[in-house]
Amino acid sequence: MAGGSEKVLAKTQGGMDPLQNRLNTILRKVESYHPNPDLDKVRQAFEFAKNAHEGQVRKSGEPYIAHPVEVLDIIADLKLDVASLCAGLLHDTVEDTDVTVEDIREHFGDDVAFLVDGVTKLSKINFNTREEAQAANFRKMVIAMSRDLRVILVKLCDRLHNMRTLKHMSSSGQERISRETMDIYAPLSHRLGISWIKTELEDLSFRYLYPDAYYEIAEKVASKKREREAFIREVISILNELLEEHDIHGAEITGRPKSFWSIYRKMRAQQIEFEQVYDLLAFRVLLVERVHCYEVLGLVHNLWKPIPGRFKDYIAIPKPNGYQSLHTSVIGPYLERLEVQLRTFEMHKIAEEGIAAHWLYKEGKAIPDQDDAKFAWLHHLMEEHQDNEDPREFMESAKIELFHDEVYVFTPNGDVMGLPQGATCVDFAYHVHTEVGHHCAGAKVNGQIVPLKYQLKNGDIVEIMTNKNKKPNKDWLQFVMTGRAKTKIRNIIRKEQRMRSMELGREILDKELKRHGTNIRAVERSGALDGMIGEGFKHTTIDDMMADIGYGRLATDHLVAKILPEKQSEESASNAQKKQTEGRLGQLWEKLSSTVSKQKRPSGGGKGSGGVVLDGIDNVMVSYAKCCAPVPGDAIVGFITRGRGLTVHKRDCARIEHLEPERQIDVNWDHGKQSQARHPVKVRVYCTDKPGLLAKISEAFQKADVNISQAHCLTTEDQRAVNTFEVLVKDTDHLTTAIRLLERIKGVYRVERA
Ligand code: MN
Repeated sequence: MAGGSEKVLAKTQGGMDPLQNRLNTILRKVESYHPNPDLDKVRQAFEFAKNAHEGQVRKSGEPYIAHPVEVLDIIADLKLDVASLCAGLLHDTVEDTDVTVEDIREHFGDDVAFLVDGVTKLSKINFNTREEAQAANFRKMVIAMSRDLRVILVKLCDRLHNMRTLKHMSSSGQERISRETMDIYAPLSHRLGISWIKTELEDLSFRYLYPDAYYEIAEKVASKKREREAFIREVISILNELLEEHDIHGAEITGRPKSFWSIYRKMRAQQIEFEQVYDLLAFRVLLVERVHCYEVLGLVHNLWKPIPGRFKDYIAIPKPNGYQSLHTSVIGPYLERLEVQLRTFEMHKIAEEGIAAHWLYKEGKAIPDQDDAKFAWLHHLMEEHQDNEDPREFMESAKIELFHDEVYVFTPNGDVMGLPQGATCVDFAYHVHTEVGHHCAGAKVNGQIVPLKYQLKNGDIVEIMTNKNKKPNKDWLQFVMTGRAKTKIRNIIRKEQRMRSMELGREILDKELKRHGTNIRAVERSGALDGMIGEGFKHTTIDDMMADIGYGRLATDHLVAKILPEKQSEESASNAQKKQTEGRLGQLWEKLSSTVSKQKRPSGGGKGSGGVVLDGIDNVMVSYAKCCAPVPGDAIVGFITRGRGLTVHKRDCARIEHLEPERQIDVNWDHGKQSQARHPVKVRVYCTDKPGLLAKISEAFQKADVNISQAHCLTTEDQRAVNTFEVLVKDTDHLTTAIRLLERIKGVYRVERA
């Protein structure tokens, strides 16, 4: 490798190549934060990547290598180590050129190879897919993160540069990438505490997702630029004087308009116009010492009236991502509302760099520490990943862990716990310990007894009362919020369901045997069942077998024929009679179980199954529940009705909890069949009551190739309208496309699936 670096040095000294100049500028930046970086290695990575990408161009027309070099620059802004810098330069070589991970290992060692491999795998993940695939992809990402956070940090830098240069993409590509950025990468950078990346990703995605709204805000913010800048200068000088008077030195004060996306979010959430959004300006005061933050807060509140309810002390109670600051909103000069943030320089550094600050220029793997509260969410996710077989449930908890705002509550001992917004006493109990959750009998908040479903608020002191005889109630599933609580409750309910299925299975088999003049106890005593379990058989225990009968997965007629071979002929003769003696699960159950026992059904959708595949069952009458109107792509569950075939519900349908668990079965969409069929679904559109808007809405539906079968419009006194449409869609992707088109219409606040 020594030869390689000499060559590089020779080139660098020429200084003619603009790319080399750019590289040198970035390397100087690296030297400014890293005590002794191996810059030769970074230069080698540059040469290697440049050769590999030789002849490739970006959509902008630049040589491809310009992209990895800019990614390198962003990685240097995050002040990461040499391996990450090299990985940034090499991150697209494996994906886009002949280079293999082995080649990279040979030239740059295990660490760089591991990172490039990880980033390559993450890049292949497409989050805009069907729910199931998305869930599986999410898992991959979480695993990659827990192995080494540098993988996700490099990936974020790659995404940021792609977003900065998105204007060169086709408009469909722009929307897809922006959506993914808004849904996954921006919240993730928030979780990792890197606020500047988060804000930039959000504003860039906003521009492509809602261009009209973006440019409207941008224009309005720009129109008052001079006025505003003068105002900002005025506020800063008032604050400076104030600090001066009180002998607080070394402070740095900045002021700026809030990000476009945060303004837009406020407009949408409160359904207000731009002019009604207050505290558009945010001032940040960086101080040398922590006590100064509180002192200056007092001074500011003394000077300008604080707005009640807006003060937050994230210094005493940091956010889980490590963020610390005091926030307040005040009525400033000319009665303008301002937000003021107070923090030390040290806190500011962590706010900007977040988790990356942990590994600043430290070489080696960035493995999140078990005991560090900052990584609690990641460890929860990993635990979840191990506990949870169902990718959809995993996805659900991952989304909550990653993307929800937090509330902070206290244990009676004064320990702080961060939980997602909307978390209840039961969530808290499971957060403390699984056993506390399982035996949670009541709760006190701030000394008062509250219902278990009470939603916790910031600052609540929560005390859980347990009782060892108490068991989780499935109604809890309706109000718990955290994935952890959901998984634990579901697991225990599943265990109980299995117990019930075993009992039910015994009952069914007993009934069947009694018709043949014997009963289950006699058969058990004879040992006839023991011959049908163990090695070589489907069931390892009699309990398994009974549970399968109970669930409807094993047919009793087949089983009885095996237990009592001499009765077989007699049994088939009695078939007609059997049809009339409906068992506990009714005719349909019998039909289902007898088809299950055929087993050897060619794969592919069954006749009449209407786009749904049951575990090896066909010829079943299928209908879709009206309460939740599932469409292909939704997670679903089947319910065996009495005499009306199978009803398909959405897995998160509230009614499922009220349906008998014994009659619920797993079903999946038949992806081969569903393409022709259209499914009804309700869409609710909240908008201003403006002439012409309905025409635009129906135009959007038309553009998305969605037919409207019913419409219901309701206007309110304050010039707003709620329009409910029943439309026919192919699947969830189709529906999402339509919803996104609707969201882009000016005057539409919110669109939701009803
Ligand atoms: Mn890239």
